[in-house]
Amino acid sequence: MIHLRTETEIAQLALAGRVVARVLERMGEMVRPGISTLELDREAERLIRQAGARPAFLGYGSPPFPASICASPEDVVVHGIPSHHVILQEGDIISIDVGAELDGWYGDAARTFPVGAISAEKQKLIRVTREAFCAGMDQARPGNRLGDVSAAIQAVADRHGLGVVRALTGHFIGREMHEDPSIPNFGRAGRGPRLAAGMILAIEPMFALGGWQVTLDPDDEWTVRTRDGSPAAHHENTIAITEEGPVILSRL
Ligand code: MG
Repeated sequence: MIHLRTETEIAQLALAGRVVARVLERMGEMVRPGISTLELDREAERLIRQAGARPAFLGYGSPPFPASICASPEDVVVHGIPSHHVILQEGDIISIDVGAELDGWYGDAARTFPVGAISAEKQKLIRVTREAFCAGMDQARPGNRLGDVSAAIQAVADRHGLGVVRALTGHFIGREMHEDPSIPNFGRAGRGPRLAAGMILAIEPMFALGGWQVTLDPDDEWTVRTRDGSPAAHHENTIAITEEGPVILSRL
């Protein structure tokens, strides 16, 4: 069953989304060569708690995720664990994923940032991943099907020859961070559940410059890397479907 949220509930979700957006804005200001991902995590946690919210990733899953953000440089696709050993280098890209719970409502969003000057192909990777998010979101309208969102995201990756990471998906969100069903970043238009006003989605394309295959770090059981070592990007927002179309909730 997919929950349909009222206008009042969507306003609550937007407050959680705003916390996440504010943290991501700050992360973008802080990302630079020489900073550790642990420093980013500390600041993100401080801002989330200052807003009266709770870091949704901290303690999530099994083994419990040990930090407030996922900090995923270069070939790390998602779920990178912040560490004082991970120092950002000029020319890197880093994906930062933030989740916050405010009064029982969840917000979830991610961005990929350049560290200093980056190559043209990394710039393209970031840009195209963001474009794919927008293309997917544009299909999130009453009467469309979930497959329309997935197919639109995949079409953007295919057009630019990027690998769609298949092992990870977007999701519905609301009273829990991950609600069913999942939202693959590939699929066929015209298939899947019918979309309706009041649905809340976390749409999150994850693309790689190389192939789509990934590996899970056997030591920490969280870090997901591209198998071929190519860099990956991630762009995510929490959105609401309204009668007028999609609205981004994870925004300032
Ligand atoms: Mg998510």
